[in-house]
Amino acid sequence: MLTVNAYAAPSADAPLEPTTITRREVGPHDVLIEIAYAGICHSDIHTVNGDWGPQPYPLVPGHEIVGTVAEIGPEVTGHAVGDRVGVGCMVNSCGQCTNCRNGDEQYCAEGMVPTYGGADRDGTITQGGYSTHVVVDAGFVLSVPESLDFAAAAPLLCAGITTYSPLRRWNTGPGRKVAVVGLGGLGHLAVKIAAAMGAEVTVLSQSLKKKEDGLRLGAEHYYATSDPATFEQLAGSSDLVLNTVSAVIDVDAYLSLLTVDGALVNVGAPAEPLSLNVFSLIGGRRTYAGSMIGGIAETQEMLDFCAEHGIVPETELISADRVNEAYERVLASDVRYRFVIDAATLA
Ligand SMILES: [Zn+2]
Ligand SMILES: [Zn+2]
Repeated sequence: MLTVNAYAAPSADAPLEPTTITRREVGPHDVLIEIAYAGICHSDIHTVNGDWGPQPYPLVPGHEIVGTVAEIGPEVTGHAVGDRVGVGCMVNSCGQCTNCRNGDEQYCAEGMVPTYGGADRDGTITQGGYSTHVVVDAGFVLSVPESLDFAAAAPLLCAGITTYSPLRRWNTGPGRKVAVVGLGGLGHLAVKIAAAMGAEVTVLSQSLKKKEDGLRLGAEHYYATSDPATFEQLAGSSDLVLNTVSAVIDVDAYLSLLTVDGALVNVGAPAEPLSLNVFSLIGGRRTYAGSMIGGIAETQEMLDFCAEHGIVPETELISADRVNEAYERVLASDVRYRFVIDAATLA
């Protein structure tokens, strides 16, 4: 076993602190990654705070990981020592069920193994990327193209695939109109990716505070949802409304923005249940759907797409000892648009 430095939450609602954790021996199908950068995802904060249920503490969060291969198991063929690689929100799945065989490992019938706070298939509890090294089954290790800025690429592993997958599924491309709700970590990437796919992109944000940013990132239109006139003006205009915010929304109001056959897709998830009037769906053969990250093959496709189109998130690089301050700023929406931890500061 390998003992490595990490930043962990000792319990719910306690600040993260430096510690050491152990990583398993490199098995026949494993890859040992020397972590270079780890993004801070809003999910990290919810999870360590216990908002989504009890956690095994101490817990090392982080599921937006990029690094360099330091060692491979004898059966590994797809990665070599020195390669630039990434790990996202999951590190294993059963590999046998229909969903896994279809490349939808995130919907594994036995439950995918999350990158932190989950039981891996060998029974150990997974620990995430706020650390110097991680050992991951090679089937869940992605290749990070050389042309992507390494630090900025980290958030693609969660925020990138979370937005790319529904954009692809709902046929985003030239001639299609996509509205992105919320211009945060997820939303700003959704704008860049949808624009690169050729769609006409509209941002729907609470206020017009980030309008300049939205237009610079690739949106053609920017509206404030706090203005009721927005919903009248945009009625029936979008093929896809991608909702990246976790707040409770007026579902019927957002459904009214859709064309016939349009879809409202949630990637943000409020804790409270939502209600809707089914006539909002029937009256335009509309769909209300959800989407969770993407499969491994699709995540690789997303990284290659982002490399081809020069897409990386806008990031702020921090040292590991600033992680608690970064959490407060994420909760206050005071980040444009993603924090990335420099893992060298953990050594
Ligand atoms: Zn995430
Ligand atoms: Zn499975």
